[in-house]
Amino acid sequence: MRFLPVFIDTHLKKIVVVGGGPSAEAKLRTLIKSEARILVIAPVISAEISKWVSELDHLVWESRHFIAEDIDGAALVYAATEDADLNAQIAELAKNKGILVNAADQKEDCSFYSPAIVDRSPIVVAIGSEGTAPGLARALKADIETRLPTTAGVLAQKIAELRHQLSSIMPSFLDRQHLWANIFSNGKDLEDRLKQTPEDIEQGYEQALKGIDIEKTGKVALIGAGPGNLDLLTIGAQRRLHSADVVVYDRLVSQDVLDMGRREAKYIYVGKAPGAHTTRQEEINRIIVEEARKGQFVVRLKGGDPLIFGRADEEIEALELAGVSYEIVPGITAAAAAAASIGASLTARGHNKSVVLLTGHDAKGFAEQDWKSLAEPEARAAVYMGLGASRFIQGRLLLHGAGHDYLITIVENASRDNEKIIGTTLGNLVQDIEKYDITGPAVLLLGYAPKEARQVNISDKRASL
Ligand code: SAH
Repeated sequence: MRFLPVFIDTHLKKIVVVGGGPSAEAKLRTLIKSEARILVIAPVISAEISKWVSELDHLVWESRHFIAEDIDGAALVYAATEDADLNAQIAELAKNKGILVNAADQKEDCSFYSPAIVDRSPIVVAIGSEGTAPGLARALKADIETRLPTTAGVLAQKIAELRHQLSSIMPSFLDRQHLWANIFSNGKDLEDRLKQTPEDIEQGYEQALKGIDIEKTGKVALIGAGPGNLDLLTIGAQRRLHSADVVVYDRLVSQDVLDMGRREAKYIYVGKAPGAHTTRQEEINRIIVEEARKGQFVVRLKGGDPLIFGRADEEIEALELAGVSYEIVPGITAAAAAAASIGASLTARGHNKSVVLLTGHDAKGFAEQDWKSLAEPEARAAVYMGLGASRFIQGRLLLHGAGHDYLITIVENASRDNEKIIGTTLGNLVQDIEKYDITGPAVLLLGYAPKEARQVNISDKRASL
């Protein structure tokens, strides 16, 4: 290890950045988060640096060329001009004065370099590769970013507060250490522990003080898994999947998303294929309540967004009734993914002021809608669970005055590798579903045409893909 990682106190220290272009900007992006007094020396600076100068009291810019005296008394120097020779000279000068210096992109001139940082101040993770593999360091950083909750810093602050309090009431260091170990045992792995809120910590602390063994309480997260493509899974969902004890999932949750889950978790499938055996909603409610009561962290995964045709309310009610705490993590709904796939705005200025999300089926069978307004030329809607109801929808819209040429786009498996887009019309809807073997999941976008063929039927082209 040639470079030793250390955290340097920047409070009111002088830091000099020479340069005002892209390299200086990159350094400053992190530096401005410090508590140092930062001096930027450069004849001109970028728009972004100039914005920081005007907004931040601890950042000062002197518009001129660098002189040797600039770095006197500095704790750190960044030679970050766009001129490699000048950077090398500045680095040499700083080293001669015994000041730590970083020269942008010139490893041999550096006495320190800037690691990739995951910042949850006061929790900070720094990743370095001694200049060997910056790409690998960035990949590691991205991974840690998704795993370390944004609340880690708040948690650390809460712990600091309690530690301060504790040192006055519990003089023995060993006793204190034992108590903290006890508090942190609430949760099996690190990610689980990091998920605790400051309130959880405080509660655990108080119980531990009273000598009560901390009981692990279960929790449920109702999570939107998105339309299937991993790119469309939220970081929040990903993070929770990493620490799930139990994953209860539906049919529409893709394997890619499930693979994000913790390997040791228990997976319970509660989906229903159309027409096949179904796990009744009451049974699902019972499972999530029961697992949470065992002290487990239950991730309840639903396709798309959990609050759109997801029967989430019934699960929420069951959880509330059972006194189990829960949270909801939204997801990207199928209509949003389908719109992105066809390149059309769901709400297009000048075309439609609203878009309706509707279902083809409800508890009673085919769902009745406000067909009259849906038949209007400017109507726009996304139909969920509409395949089986397509003949019914076609009949109702025609009955209420929609033309046979009323545009409809079918998007099957939106966002997934096997996505299919069929541009069709109301007149051809039913036969095209058959012809192109659309078996779902699919949304019917009423009033929309795929971007590349606004007015034309492009089904032949797409279906051959
Ligand atoms: N909560 C989900 C919807 C559940 S209802 C969401 O917000 O997306 C199930 C219906 O969603 C399916 O019948 C289909 O109409 C639609 N759907 C779900 N995933 C889809 C996908 N990847 N592509 C197209 N439609 C999808």
